[in-house]
Amino acid sequence: MGCNIDTRCIHIEQDEKPDQYGAISYPIYQTATFAHPGVGRSTGYDYSRSQNPTRENVEKVVASLENGTDAVAFSSGMAAISAVMELFEPGDHLIVDTDLYGGTTRLFEQISRKNGIAFTGVNISETDLEPLLQENTKAIYLETPTNPMMNVTDLEKVCGLAKKHGILTIVDNTFMSPYFQNPLDLGADIVLHSGTKYLGGHNDTIAGFLVVKDEKLARTFRELIQTIGSNLAPFDCFLIRRGIQTLAVRMEKAQSNAIKIAHWLQKRTDVTRVIYPGLSEHPGYEIMKRQARGFGAMLTFEVESAGLALEILNQISLIRFAESLGGTETLLTYPVTQTHADVPREQREKNGLTDCILRLSVGIENPEDLIRDLEKAFRNAHEK
Ligand SMILES: *Cc1c(COP(=O)(O)O)cnc(C)c1O
Repeated sequence: MGCNIDTRCIHIEQDEKPDQYGAISYPIYQTATFAHPGVGRSTGYDYSRSQNPTRENVEKVVASLENGTDAVAFSSGMAAISAVMELFEPGDHLIVDTDLYGGTTRLFEQISRKNGIAFTGVNISETDLEPLLQENTKAIYLETPTNPMMNVTDLEKVCGLAKKHGILTIVDNTFMSPYFQNPLDLGADIVLHSGTKYLGGHNDTIAGFLVVKDEKLARTFRELIQTIGSNLAPFDCFLIRRGIQTLAVRMEKAQSNAIKIAHWLQKRTDVTRVIYPGLSEHPGYEIMKRQARGFGAMLTFEVESAGLALEILNQISLIRFAESLGGTETLLTYPVTQTHADVPREQREKNGLTDCILRLSVGIENPEDLIRDLEKAFRNAHEK
């Protein structure tokens, strides 16, 4: 029996040999290259683009948290997604969600299309995908819950369909983190993370991960990172590794704060919608209860006017107006001009992403202070 996930955030299970000095934290091997003990011999490391002990350490931790056999650490979430797209060839077709991280949509539209890859974009949470499959369909790409509309997809159902047709399911699990959801266990082939978010957890570095169970896919990604060179640097590996040590406590606290804020927002008459999958009226609530161990700490809400949304952004003070998510500090984002500015307006509106929508990444501060800051921001915004 392996250890529980909160323990695995701190300890690698196949206990590693302790450092010769007994160091508790894993050393940063700040080296580009490694000397060979002799001709035809290697310490296991040759050149840090291919592998570095500090990177290998954080990769083992992430693989363990996602119940994968291997994880590969990239210089950003986007670098990880770009590597995934190298699996495909001109003429291939993918089914993708239309409500995704804005940078992912931009990658598909501006780079993958140019490389001859075709896409069908739908709301995967509510669409029967079987009729959309084509002869050349190679994969289904999704997030659940989605960013920022928090649509929830039944992963077992989608992965089952993909398996039946011999295609890949790729899941961006950034929003839930491995602490709350493990898509590989539900049949996904590739899980990806922006390690910048909950894994790192402190808004102090950029990173990305691909995690798989299949050893052939793992080999492919290892060859890709060696060839493309989008590897995570040793110091950043150390920061992400350190962030992960507190993943469990941060996720629990942030989620508990998010539930309190969601209930507070629900009581306001100037808030027209609160979209949080941990509310029992959310259409994905039952699926979340089945396939995840929690609901996360991302919540989206809609206010009565775009003017009010903009003024709230001006009036918050403890909560900061910034892109990104998953850190210790609570951040408020305005998706239409920030994370999703490159998604065409028409598509945004079809997704329900209007200019009255705000997205909150709930941090781990005291919830009373967060609610007081929001209350003050709403009050001042109305007085403007
Ligand atoms: C931030 C983010 C990405 C991109 O990751 P970077 O580390 O910023 O390159 C991808 N997917 C989701 C869901 C994200 O939130």
